Amino acid sequence: MHHMEDGTKQRTLSIVKPDGVGKGVIGEVVRRFEKEGIRIVAMRMLRLSRKQAEGFYAVHRERPFFASLTDFMSSGPIVAMVLEGDDVIARNRKIMGATDPAKADKGTIRADFAGSIEQNIVHGSDAPDTAVTEIRYFFSELDIVS
Ligand code: GDP
Repeated sequence: MHHMEDGTKQRTLSIVKPDGVGKGVIGEVVRRFEKEGIRIVAMRMLRLSRKQAEGFYAVHRERPFFASLTDFMSSGPIVAMVLEGDDVIARNRKIMGATDPAKADKGTIRADFAGSIEQNIVHGSDAPDTAVTEIRYFFSELDIVS
């Protein structure tokens, strides 16, 4: 097996949010990652309680949309994934598109499928430190294949 000597290999947390699961685009989201050579090294479906959604989005607790966001995130099943690859944090963010689908680049997941700035199909960690924290929120090291 080929071993890549690569200092920039990263992991990030991706979530297909309840709207994405409801719209039936889990497979399409996964396809877009795999098409770009991003590897999925852990995956699970679950439904967050309100408390768990509040914990996940704790950094946003002072925002006016916090109640609405955590209500939405606990409204149905989600699919959480660990993505692995070279520079995968930034690459995932690019594939996702801007938070507001009206501002997202053409061909991004959010431009193609999101209904609003809140119900925007996917989550992706925004930096290496948040990626570590967010992966730990859903996965044990034993859940991640290598
Ligand atoms: P992200 O990193 O692109 O997901 O964006 P943020 O970290 O800024 O926000 C987290 C999530 O909160 C977003 O993905 C949206 O679901 C939601 N959100 C962000 N901004 C707004 C807003 O202005 N209004 C509402 N209702 N939800 C928002």
